[in-house]
Amino acid sequence: MKKRARSIFPQADGECFLCARLERYPRYHKHLEAHHIYYGCNHSQSDRYGFLINLCAHHHRGDQMGNKDAVHSEDKNDYGDYIKRWAQAEYEKTHTREEFMEIFGRSWL
Ligand SMILES: [Zn+2]
Ligand SMILES: [Zn+2]
Repeated sequence: MKKRARSIFPQADGECFLCARLERYPRYHKHLEAHHIYYGCNHSQSDRYGFLINLCAHHHRGDQMGNKDAVHSEDKNDYGDYIKRWAQAEYEKTHTREEFMEIFGRSWL
């Protein structure tokens, strides 16, 4: 059985990563969803190395009509890339760019 990695980015209980930064919505939520920061073909690597972040449903799902604020929205927004760049910068505080690129094969910075 595969053990699920914990996020390497500490967050307060009930805190949505985007709500906390945008200061536009209530910061604290009962229901949060784990978002794989580098999704698509890097989904399993995100899982393995703990590149996960908690998001509220509003900021996570793109399946709600007209929800342009969601990371997975089909409408173009910059939140997904913003989180990718932020996470790489955080990771590189304690690791090298080479170590990052060994995991994900590219750099977002
Ligand atoms: Zn949120
Ligand atoms: Zn997600």
